Amino acid sequence: MDLTRNTDNISKRIQAMLDRVGSAEVSDLYLYNIPVSEIHGGASVLVDGREMGMFASYSYLGLLGHPRINEAAIRAVETYGSGTHGVRTLAGTLELHEALEETIANFKDTEDAITFSSGYVTNLSTISTLVGRHDVVLSDKLNHASIVDGCLLSGAQFVRFRHNDMEDLARHLEEAPESASKLVVSDAVFSMDGDIVDLPRLSETCRRYGAWLMIDEAHSVGVLGELGRGIEEHFGTPGVIDIKMGTLSKTIPSVGGYVAGKRDMIKFLRHQARGYVFSAALPPGQAAAAMESFKVIQDEPWRVQTLRENTRQFIGGLKDRGFDTLRSETAIVPILCGSDDWAFRVARESHRENVFVLPVVSPAVPEGLARLRATVTAAHSPEQIEHAMDVFARAGRKVGVLAEA
Ligand code: PMP
Repeated sequence: MDLTRNTDNISKRIQAMLDRVGSAEVSDLYLYNIPVSEIHGGASVLVDGREMGMFASYSYLGLLGHPRINEAAIRAVETYGSGTHGVRTLAGTLELHEALEETIANFKDTEDAITFSSGYVTNLSTISTLVGRHDVVLSDKLNHASIVDGCLLSGAQFVRFRHNDMEDLARHLEEAPESASKLVVSDAVFSMDGDIVDLPRLSETCRRYGAWLMIDEAHSVGVLGELGRGIEEHFGTPGVIDIKMGTLSKTIPSVGGYVAGKRDMIKFLRHQARGYVFSAALPPGQAAAAMESFKVIQDEPWRVQTLRENTRQFIGGLKDRGFDTLRSETAIVPILCGSDDWAFRVARESHRENVFVLPVVSPAVPEGLARLRATVTAAHSPEQIEHAMDVFARAGRKVGVLAEA
């Protein structure tokens, strides 16, 4: 179809995006969908024959490529093959899936757990299954898109409260109809800013208004808490979350998502959540890799400590060099650039010096708050972190984000 001749809304929408991507490509500022040919742990990658320091990885504990995890995946493929016989409810459930769910429930200290084929589907399916018409779902303004989409799909009244603002949440809960069920959803670690939700006040507010609390731990498992168990361990408040959601694609180097919680709720989801009932089971290799990863986290607790030290070095060093890293206290570190164009250019300069980092621009973040969204992992050495920060600072000065020294 010749898009240039079509004036309907779909064609216009496509053309607008093609124009935006095209203009970035023409200016050599397009840095998305870069094919990586080799992954060397969490710390570096091979791109176009060049070894690049990796500062955009979610492999927070450096588990990607861990021999025990690789071995578990290979063994599972040899035992079961590469897929299953279909959806879990029918012929798709393996003993391996049940063992994985038991491992997750133990790790998250809950009665039971259920897995889905991605973190995105987990949020979409869980929220839209738990609430519906006549209910109210309340979501932090900076929550991940998968939470927003789950809220929209649910058909419940959808309220977005001010970021990490418990007074605003309480106001909205006060206004909700007495008869409505209320579900409050928040990220544990916010995926663009790297800050942490105020769980003690959030859970207290939910208790006060009789609301269910769901927390997305995509960026907190392996990252928060002395043993990497997540946000409840971080705050020393066990058992305050009703619905503990997480992904198997970040600290856990696999793919899939989970919800951990009370046995009855999990059983309900197992029979009612459409993303579970109508979508194929996790492949055996991925399930086994995920299960082994939880064991490695417990056997190698030093990784959590190393990540904490690397995070301190990274955030401290970036601030010393003059960057604004917002309120990040975690492995996700926004390096503020200002305009979209500046963020693209700082990222491109960094790539030229073999540091892999990605710009995040509007509408994903508010205009004027475009940034490099850098991540640090336990796999980085202190020297690698120091080098990358020097590269960012040189790029920042060249583009004008930082003043000349
Ligand atoms: N929740 C959050 C907070 C995320 O950052 C992401 C992924 N970026 C997801 C959910 C979705 O997880 P997945 O990539 O496993 O689908």
